Amino acid sequence: MLKRDEELIHSAVEKIQASKRAVVFTGAGISTPSGIPDFRSPHSGLWEQYDPFEVASLSAFRHHPEKFYGWIRPLIAIARAAKPNQAHLYLARMEAAGIIQAVITQNIDGLHQKAGSKEVIELHGNAKTATCLACGKHYEDNWLIEEQLEKSHYPRCSDCGGVLKPDVILFEEQLPLKAWMRAHDLCDQADLILVVGSSLEVYPANSLPESGLAHGACLIINTMTDTHLDHLADIVIHADLIETLPEICRRLLP
Ligand SMILES: [Zn+2]
Repeated sequence: MLKRDEELIHSAVEKIQASKRAVVFTGAGISTPSGIPDFRSPHSGLWEQYDPFEVASLSAFRHHPEKFYGWIRPLIAIARAAKPNQAHLYLARMEAAGIIQAVITQNIDGLHQKAGSKEVIELHGNAKTATCLACGKHYEDNWLIEEQLEKSHYPRCSDCGGVLKPDVILFEEQLPLKAWMRAHDLCDQADLILVVGSSLEVYPANSLPESGLAHGACLIINTMTDTHLDHLADIVIHADLIETLPEICRRLLP
């Protein structure tokens, strides 16, 4: 580990130790080590034939659900098979030890819950459940029945035949109100926000750490790329989170 990173980690540990209401904000970077591709980063390979901004909007979904499913099916399959990595697992232990209050995530892969985190706020929904767009019937896990997809290019409601939409938030869609309010409260009341693996590019989720900062929280950012809040953060660690985050947590856990 670089000497500079070592010093930053040491400072981060001290800040987290001194905090009473710490929350963690995670993005795609925490799940890429678990094999979940970040479709915003170029050359992720999986979806070269699709532009996510074209297929994954609400209007595109309504007009061409088959294109949307062509795009998201590999991601759902990967997310179902994926295992949480050390970063997810350490955050769950940090919550259990009372060091952090909650994880606010932009990810839809469910890996924080698989790792054992209890208080997880999913700003962009999840790929585990689905809802019928016609009658509103809710479908729990295993809603994406492969048998069905052999007959049709998208899954249909067993009650009314309507198109099922996974409970992920598409472009043009509002964030889920309850999750948004809860995340806002947590950030505004936090005395420390730790951003992990998010480049803070996606609005409005990216406004949460800024709001916390405006309410007096200390801000620590651990991500590979620059973010628009780097100049306001107390500590910025531009290093691989799969090395730095477990190191920070190990020093904090009893
Ligand atoms: Zn229905």
